[in-house]
Amino acid sequence: MSAPLLELRGLTVRYGALTALRGLDLQVREGELVALLGANGAGKSTTLRAISRLVGAAAGQVLWRGADLAGVSTHRTVRLGIGHCPEGRRVLARQTVATNLELGAWLRRDRAGIATDLERCYGLFPRLAERRRQLAGNLSGGEQQMLAIARALMGRPSLLLLDEPSLGLAPKLVAEVMASLAALHAGGLSMLLVEQNATAALEIADRGVVLEGGAIGLEGSAAALLANAGLRASYLGSG
Ligand code: ATP
Repeated sequence: MSAPLLELRGLTVRYGALTALRGLDLQVREGELVALLGANGAGKSTTLRAISRLVGAAAGQVLWRGADLAGVSTHRTVRLGIGHCPEGRRVLARQTVATNLELGAWLRRDRAGIATDLERCYGLFPRLAERRRQLAGNLSGGEQQMLAIARALMGRPSLLLLDEPSLGLAPKLVAEVMASLAALHAGGLSMLLVEQNATAALEIADRGVVLEGGAIGLEGSAAALLANAGLRASYLGSG
């Protein structure tokens, strides 16, 4: 079997005296959508930050297509095909939707490909197409979330890291964002999806990993996790 697209081996991350990840092992294979779940402070965002090299590893490895990312800059991880859509949207409020999207392609020089991808993003998120000349700061929370995802897609990632895309959204918009992610997954994009909204994430994921105190508490197929009564009680918040 070929090497997984992404593999974390014994990944340990510390913030000073606090150990956020303790020897985490995790894989994302080509085309897979893996949901990364867990309570507040379990280490989900830290996992994504370690993959993007925004925080360094105290021990263990992050392997991309089998090659160790130690010493690789964040900038380079984007070039390698790792797109990171951070928590809290972080769009450029005083720029238009179109400019935000164009900035997502900052590392690319293939103008024709950029134009094609721009239209693809507008097809995936029609609300953005309607608002392409508006300032991003005037979009609703859900629309800003869609813009943040679309902007990450403009970098043509092979793997998309998503940090709580449903945060703060009304249920209807959560469903809309999840449907867009499911469409991207159906198109073959690999994703590591951090979510507090575990049910919504597992409904579109292939597999799920539940972090507890910086290590794996539970993992399995999305279907098995959705059917797991204990998990439902502790994380899914519904009976
Ligand atoms: P949340 O859902 O609340 O964002 P999370 O699972 O994403 O939680 P992390 O943000 O990865 O968790 O945090 C893991 C642990 O590391 C927490 O105890 C957190 O307080 C701590 N932590 C995160 N970032 C820093 C930082 N920059 N400096 C110090 N401690 C940090």
